[in-house]
Amino acid sequence: MTSETRAVRLDGKQVAAELIDRLKFEVAALPYTPKLTFVRVGDDPASASYVRSKERLAQRAGVESETFVLPATTPQAELLELLQRLNEDSGVDGILVQLPLPAGLDSQAMLDAIDPRKDVDGLHPYNVGLLWGGRPGLVPATPLGVMELLASYGVRVAGKHAVVVGRSELVGKPLAALLLRRDATVLIAHSKTPDLAAVTRRADVLVVAAGRPGLVGADMVKPGAAVLDVGLTRVDGRIVGDVKPEVASVAGWLTPMPGGTGPMTVAMVIANTVTAAKWRRSA
Ligand code: NAP
Repeated sequence: MTSETRAVRLDGKQVAAELIDRLKFEVAALPYTPKLTFVRVGDDPASASYVRSKERLAQRAGVESETFVLPATTPQAELLELLQRLNEDSGVDGILVQLPLPAGLDSQAMLDAIDPRKDVDGLHPYNVGLLWGGRPGLVPATPLGVMELLASYGVRVAGKHAVVVGRSELVGKPLAALLLRRDATVLIAHSKTPDLAAVTRRADVLVVAAGRPGLVGADMVKPGAAVLDVGLTRVDGRIVGDVKPEVASVAGWLTPMPGGTGPMTVAMVIANTVTAAKWRRSA
């Protein structure tokens, strides 16, 4: 950090490690071992590395994991059959289809085929409905991780203006629902939003999930705001966020990139698996 830095670092790596330690105790006290399964199709190296990091963290929390790796040429019907088998397997608590799927496969049909009680990615329409209906359900891991980071550092959300840049099903929309649930006044910005800077400057809590490296600079941030960078883009072999590092001189809180929202996402997938196991096995 430079001498200009004023923002408190929202250390996702640290908070995620603490969360995994807590989960480990919780899991050890259960009369069964929760199990998470991954379905990975094709040989995309980024997907393989994401799955590996989730497997490692699952192991640290005492959660069993199994990964099914299928060739990119696998017909959709065969994948649906595998999902059906995992749905019916009473020992499986979580099913995660690693996205993106190779061209030619219908991602939505795959996500819809997962038993909502095992949908640890929270993308099944049933879980999306529960989220917007304000009822308990499985929620996508990245937005959950953002909320957990804010809570861990005591950042107030209730009564504040929150701006979410990005409206994807995976990040922007579910995050807006969670912020609204916590009594923030929420605005969702996207690629058609005119004068983005005027919108982001109003935010007490600003979450950027556009996948546009360096989209948000210091002049777009309200002094003292909490800024969470979700965007991850590989530029010349380096991971670059959507928020410029200079924002640290204006913001009150800021996630580092990497080491902010990324580790939280992985930890929340494991947390979702434990939640899914508890709900399903006690029902
Ligand atoms: P996505 O589906 O591509 O959505 C991107 C969103 O950003 C869209 O709603 C898009 O608007 C909006 N957008 C794009 N350019 C913009 C601009 N110039 N100004 C304002 N809004 C703009 O992506 P995603 O799945 O939500 O992921 C977003 C980023 O987060 C990616 O970099 C991804 O790799 C990263 N990610 C990180 C984590 C993590 O753990 N940190 C987890 C998941 C994703 P339109 O809807 O109008 O196109």
